[in-house]
Amino acid sequence: EIGEELLSAGRKARDLDRAHVFHSWSAQASLDPMTVVKTEGPHVWDGEGRKLIDFSSQMVNTNIGHGHPAVVAAIQEQAARIATIAPAHVNDARSEAARLISDLTPGDLNHVFFTNGGADAVEHAVRMARVHTGKTKILSAYRSYHGGTDLAINITGGARRIPVDRAAAGTAHFLPPFTYRSSFHAEDDAQEGQRALEHLEQVITLEGPSTIAAVILESVPGTAGIFVPPAGYLEGVRELTRRHGILFIADEVMAGFGRTGRWFGVDHWGVEPDLLTFAKGVNSGYVPLGGVAISDEVYQTFAETPYPGGLTYSGHPLACAAAVATITAMQEEGMVENAARLGTEIFGPRLQELKDRHPSVGDVRGLGAFWAVELVQDRTTKEPLDIGELVAECKKLGLLPFVAENRLHLTPPLNTPDEVVRQGLDILDQALEVADRAVQG
Ligand code: PLP
Repeated sequence: EIGEELLSAGRKARDLDRAHVFHSWSAQASLDPMTVVKTEGPHVWDGEGRKLIDFSSQMVNTNIGHGHPAVVAAIQEQAARIATIAPAHVNDARSEAARLISDLTPGDLNHVFFTNGGADAVEHAVRMARVHTGKTKILSAYRSYHGGTDLAINITGGARRIPVDRAAAGTAHFLPPFTYRSSFHAEDDAQEGQRALEHLEQVITLEGPSTIAAVILESVPGTAGIFVPPAGYLEGVRELTRRHGILFIADEVMAGFGRTGRWFGVDHWGVEPDLLTFAKGVNSGYVPLGGVAISDEVYQTFAETPYPGGLTYSGHPLACAAAVATITAMQEEGMVENAARLGTEIFGPRLQELKDRHPSVGDVRGLGAFWAVELVQDRTTKEPLDIGELVAECKKLGLLPFVAENRLHLTPPLNTPDEVVRQGLDILDQALEVADRAVQG
């Protein structure tokens, strides 16, 4: 169904890409990026005209799918009226987006500072926490992802950290609860959550509460593996931080805006953070947008004292108009409820069944439209499996997953029709035979 014109434009774009585009996170010379010539709803079409089910939502951001007509129209209308305006001027799209976000976020997060994406939201949340508390250290989890800028990548746990002086950067790390690969020799979620909390309390004590401005945590860690925290863990972090005069920053950049089947991940546990970072799903990435939702208490610090920070495009009208239209569409079309239902009715049972039948599957976990399938060479040792061939097979059969280390992340748009979700899981079922062969061979 893709005409020769689009395909030839795609081939030209690919040549130019290889000649001139510098890609994220990659050694440039050996790259073989997929060309996309068309997108629609839960589907994308590649450079050969093949239709793929988009279980990646790209960077887990197209929560409303591709090309939602109401959002496209809102952007077009806004572009024709006021395409851009300085952050100092009042703008109706920005005001309405801030109102909607204040209404949806938990607790008294009643003010919004807009950024261009997730990493700068994290940067600004940390800056607010540091100024508000007068302290510098930021505690964050190994096994996390908070963004690609210097501070955000050093808050991020794991090997992507770049070699800067971490003491100067003012960051320290702790182990989050992750029952499948427990660092605490836990046998179940309850033990894992309890021991992870005790560990965090020790880290706080050893680092010194009087030096710590904030703990930043993804409510449900995304890129690091989609592991849902045990019941009680986030509530415990909230209690610990409050007791020690430390702010709690919830990073909802990936988990937020419906991905987990609630508006925000923290809503599953009734936790109210002091600062909440968002991006991605706020407008499904149709125009870059992120931000920090700010509690009344933190806001008070900047009521009389100027906030030391800003961006040319803070609250960009095109991005904010897209956010207003996106949130409205999500509400009108019940997308968050649908994500919850996809999780309990389709993903949960079906992935469990795939795990039972495929020896290469070590673990399946998630909620809402936010699932990880972890591939292992051996279920006992849990040694990671190289999944290059499995990913290629998925794509060949028409499924585009999000890939992280030895895991496939299944994170489709929240409004993906049931039959498309089932088709995607059928493809995965078939493709897993390739991974099973690698295990058995
Ligand atoms: N925080 C979390 C939890 C994320 O998942 C991401 C991106 O994946 C970021 C921050 C960084 O966002 P961005 O890539 O928009 O800078």
